[in-house]
Amino acid sequence: MRISTTAINNFNQAKGEDHMNQEQMARRYFLRTTALGTAAVALGAGPIGSAAESGRLQIKAPFHGAVLNRRLGKEVAGGLEIQVSGDAPAGARVTVNNIPAKRAGTGFDTRIVLKDKETDIVAVAETAGGHSEDRIRVVWDKNSFPRYRFSVDDNSFFLRDIARKKYRSLFDCFYLDVFRKLNKKYGAKFVLNIYYTTEDGFTLPQFPDRYKGEWKDNSDWLKLAFHAHANMPNRPYEDTPPEKLIADLDKVNEQILRFAGPETLTPPTVIHWGMTRTTVFKPLYQRGVRVLSGLFRLRGEKYDINYRLDNTRSEYLSKHDALKDFESGIVFSLIDIVCNNTPIDRIVPTLEPLTKNPNTAEIMDLFTHEQYFWPFYRRYIPDHAQRLDAAIRWCTEHGYKPVLFHEGLLGAPA
Ligand SMILES: [Zn+2]
Repeated sequence: MRISTTAINNFNQAKGEDHMNQEQMARRYFLRTTALGTAAVALGAGPIGSAAESGRLQIKAPFHGAVLNRRLGKEVAGGLEIQVSGDAPAGARVTVNNIPAKRAGTGFDTRIVLKDKETDIVAVAETAGGHSEDRIRVVWDKNSFPRYRFSVDDNSFFLRDIARKKYRSLFDCFYLDVFRKLNKKYGAKFVLNIYYTTEDGFTLPQFPDRYKGEWKDNSDWLKLAFHAHANMPNRPYEDTPPEKLIADLDKVNEQILRFAGPETLTPPTVIHWGMTRTTVFKPLYQRGVRVLSGLFRLRGEKYDINYRLDNTRSEYLSKHDALKDFESGIVFSLIDIVCNNTPIDRIVPTLEPLTKNPNTAEIMDLFTHEQYFWPFYRRYIPDHAQRLDAAIRWCTEHGYKPVLFHEGLLGAPA
């Protein structure tokens, strides 16, 4: 789906306006960046036909919101040189950021150099009939390096266990000890997204604050974040007003601060089920969320576990490490592996192919769920910890460094 700018027609030329004024440009950019979130499917390329057929000007690559690193361009002095290509009316003169583009039929392409963290890419086509423009924005992941982030969803049982057993140390709970061992072995960092309640009488206010020092001592690698009020119902925030989600988040954050301190509290990496209204993105950004991870999986006609992003962006995310939503400031990240769904002998075959594709090679978003660690859980996975070890070992051996995505740009200095 594109909100491509259509021709600035003879009307404007008659008024002597060869180029859009600032206000028009801002408006058009606004349209492209915001309308992407709504009514996307109805405006899909299918019913309208391709830009080439309709003679529209359209930047096709890079994708609006793309996060570009050195694998996706060529590092040159002071910048990243990238290719920009698309469609334009045959015969039109096309420039991209004032650089003349090569034409071939209805195609155009040229190379530009990104020098800023974010760059607007403006293609202009001029024909006898008028002047048209298409505009996108991309992010330069300037200080990128191969990295991985491990986050765990649906956490609650370990908190109930520690509160009931009154261990001397947090790590006397076998579950947290799994992560400590992986931290000692590989330097791995973990974000545990937690619930407010296990719904059997345990709530976070019952968790003692006497481990606060231990949380703080381990806060460089072990973080807690909001996930949901509770495990049930399914998809609790899929169509929930932002105020309700934020109220639940604030309630959990207040408890994390009380029992673990500010060093341990981080923004959530995944909201339960990865489904929210898009109107909650801005409030989440205001609560410190910088990256949200999802599966961006096609289910029937629509993408799912995608924070209700439109199909075009979801399809892009299903094949790329990340995409920025400029309206909110949130970057969306593609989860690369769900350890509880991946048998031990499939861990490496799941990760390895990602390194062969520059669109998925740089950032590993590793992921699992708490419940499969617990023998009382009906779908208990006895080798769950070994699966995590296999995934993290593979990343470590292939040069990926542990990071936290809310720091910098997906864990790289911004
Ligand atoms: Zn969840």
